[in-house]
Amino acid sequence: MNAQQTRQIFLDFFEKKSHHIVSSAPMVIKDDPTLMFTNAGMNQFKDIFLGNSPVKFPRIANTQKCLRVSGKHNDLEEVGHDTYHHTMFEMLGNWSFGDYFKKDAINWAWELLTEVYKIDKDRLYVTIFGGDEGDNLQPDMEAHDLWKAHVPENRILRGNKKDNFWEMGDSGPCGPCSEIHVDIRDKKERAEVDGATLVNTGDPKVIEIWNLVFMEFNRLANGNLQPLPAKHVDTGMGFERLCMVLQQKQSNYDTDIFQPLIGKIADISGIRYGAADKTDIAMRVIADHVRAIAFAIADGQLPSNNKAGYVIRRILRRAVRYGFTFLKMDEPFIYKLIPVLSEQMGAYFIELKSQQTLVEKVIHEEEASFLRTLSHGITKFNNYIDSNPGNTLVDGAFAFELYDTYGFPIDLTGLMAREHGKEVDMAGFSKGLELQKERSRKDASIEVEDWIVLDDKAAETFVGYDTLSVATKITRYRKVRTKGRDAYQIALASTPFYAESGGQVGDRGTLKSGDQIIPVLDTKKENNLIIHLTEAIPADPAESLVATVSEAARTDTANNHSATHLLHHALRNVIGTHVEQKGSYVHPDYLRFDFSHFQKVTEEEIHEIEKQVNRMIRQNLVLDEMRDMPFDKAKEAGALALFGEKYGDSVRVIRFGNSVELCGGTHVHATGQIGLFKITSESAIAAGVRRIEAITAGKAEAFYDHQLSLISEIKELVKNPVDPVKGLRNLLEENQKLRAQLEQISMEKVNELYHQLMAGSRDINGCRLITGKVNLDAGSAKDLAFRLMDASDNHLIILGTLHDDKPGITVAISGPLVNTGKYNAAAIVKELAKEISGGGGGQPHYATAGGKNPGGIESALGKAASLVAGLAS
Ligand code: ATP
Ligand code: MG
Repeated sequence: MNAQQTRQIFLDFFEKKSHHIVSSAPMVIKDDPTLMFTNAGMNQFKDIFLGNSPVKFPRIANTQKCLRVSGKHNDLEEVGHDTYHHTMFEMLGNWSFGDYFKKDAINWAWELLTEVYKIDKDRLYVTIFGGDEGDNLQPDMEAHDLWKAHVPENRILRGNKKDNFWEMGDSGPCGPCSEIHVDIRDKKERAEVDGATLVNTGDPKVIEIWNLVFMEFNRLANGNLQPLPAKHVDTGMGFERLCMVLQQKQSNYDTDIFQPLIGKIADISGIRYGAADKTDIAMRVIADHVRAIAFAIADGQLPSNNKAGYVIRRILRRAVRYGFTFLKMDEPFIYKLIPVLSEQMGAYFIELKSQQTLVEKVIHEEEASFLRTLSHGITKFNNYIDSNPGNTLVDGAFAFELYDTYGFPIDLTGLMAREHGKEVDMAGFSKGLELQKERSRKDASIEVEDWIVLDDKAAETFVGYDTLSVATKITRYRKVRTKGRDAYQIALASTPFYAESGGQVGDRGTLKSGDQIIPVLDTKKENNLIIHLTEAIPADPAESLVATVSEAARTDTANNHSATHLLHHALRNVIGTHVEQKGSYVHPDYLRFDFSHFQKVTEEEIHEIEKQVNRMIRQNLVLDEMRDMPFDKAKEAGALALFGEKYGDSVRVIRFGNSVELCGGTHVHATGQIGLFKITSESAIAAGVRRIEAITAGKAEAFYDHQLSLISEIKELVKNPVDPVKGLRNLLEENQKLRAQLEQISMEKVNELYHQLMAGSRDINGCRLITGKVNLDAGSAKDLAFRLMDASDNHLIILGTLHDDKPGITVAISGPLVNTGKYNAAAIVKELAKEISGGGGGQPHYATAGGKNPGGIESALGKAASLVAGLAS
């Protein structure tokens, strides 16, 4: 059974059991400060478990793209070294939200594995939660008894809290779980050692494939457990592991999910998979990582220097490093795996197929840039080795500098050190690393207290599309401490405040409680909860209050948001429908729009885009807002949806004329309100991704005002109010003429000085000394000195120069004189520069100095003769 079929059979099975099939949520999470990446199928339902979102479908099933490289679930170090942990993997899951519980979950899992997939029952073990004293929890006998119907007692194992109590993070929904493990050893091995003794021991041949979680609690920040409003089922089965079992392989990498990728890597590197342990690991690491990177980019997360982007960059670099070190790949090659991956997975995950070129370009660029970094690191390392020949240890601080500043991996430094018969001082390196971790921990530390809930029944709804001010109540609040400062997060029963999302910044405004006015500094989303950030809390938090959004900022923001839609529309009109939105930022002062496009947007195109947007503004297109449209219908109507954005079954559609987008943002009532649109910059932010910045309304007006006042100023300066361009041109022509005249004059002056100085030359022991004070700029002084120098074999010229009140000394010496070894221009200039309180240098035949004391020129020239006489003797 191939992977595609395996996935489909799972979905069909649960669909028949009345589950609603949903698509995978994006792998990159945008509105949950506690989680960067989806690490389990249940993440997208967190709000339902917490009781913050209504249940639309009590039964759901899907396959979810997961990434486990940070936070509580981090498998990165295992990946490639073992056979069954990946960074990115698919988790097959079925859910019950307050509907069925342990009985159906257990019976269906058993039915699917043994009757549909036909896995041999003798290969399966199950575990149940054995209780925990700390949390005062009893063993899960209910699950035990349900399993008894299918599995003999000796195959039902009791697990501790670590293995059998599932928690999403440090806080949040959790509960006891029951896992299914599969023994993939051959008959002989199974006869020798009882599989039950290998469960949960890290044995690569007796592994967990499915975890059934019975979600009953919410873990609070203080560590206590609180029962959830309703009981739920949350299951997760590793798709790649399931495929391994069904395809009778001993490693996930031997399935049809990974083999095409590994085959391609073998082709490119010329190394056979299976040739050696080290190269095998490298191939597995790369085959694994390319999936994580490709899906992240397709979900809109470009590699970058912070947060999620940095995690992706580090995964990619890890892959490059394994390729570089073990497969000797010193040119970009990982991007060449994308067509293979897209062929393998693009049919189900269309975001990959439709953005294949972009994904390839971004990866290619990242690879090339990291390879350059590696080569800088190598040069730096070689310099270190050359200049510290005696050391047997490579300094730990140096290794850390390489790692930190040049992104140079420590294991590679170790490898290179050994090639020179040295070791890295790992204690020193670890110290640097520890200090850095400490610093970033301090920077990032946010202490969050538990919610104080005043009203757990209120809906906490957003009313800000229709009004900017409402009388409402606080439903819950909590104190947070960031970088030593106290602040509050407040949720309201209803709120006009728009929480930062979809690129639009959060609203600011006030909460008025009695006489107390509390500024709202920002509004953010945590999953579906709207959180108002303040520095104070009302004296009586239970009192009703008036929440009011700052109207001016909201209006400016709406102008920019609607303009972003018009811009998107015009872009697709002018440069093509390949344009995919890759990010946006909508601020009251300006807007930013990132999109995929493979070359610079030309001046003419920019102009045309501006023209089209301004035309749509003048057409005063009225906002057509549909708040609850079924997703499929919206797509049919041509609404632009973004990859990597999480959409519900019903969506909000924003239409201005032919611009139709799925969007939750706040908009103008009609485009005329935007007034004016002006693009202020166009640039590249990554391979294949361009950025346009623009302004609207008052800011655009101010922009033109400023341009106009510049022009008036110019008109005045060139004294030609009617045709300032002509005025300027005249000025430039005149300037050119004057410059030519000036050059002529200074040439004549240099000529004249040449003759004067030659006439005043004197002989000192066979050397003709020429000195004088000249008012020349550096260039003319050099010309003069060189002409004098070239005029004879024995000239030594010392000029004191004065230009713009700055004193200088120029020394030039004819070649044959220099060759006598007696005279050196640099040494002479150094000595004389003291007189003008300055310094300088140069070559033996020509040197210059600058100084601060113009009065010293005469004395410098005075000293010249005796100095030269001294040298000459
Ligand atoms: P393990 O102990 O093997 O790391 P887990 O306890 O971390 O697994 P869960 O969090 O229960 O796993 O996830 C549910 C299922 O997802 C697991 O039963 C397993 O099949 C799969 N899974 C978990 N982590 C990975 C991974 N890194 N790569 C591939 N599959 C995974
Ligand atoms: Mg794990």
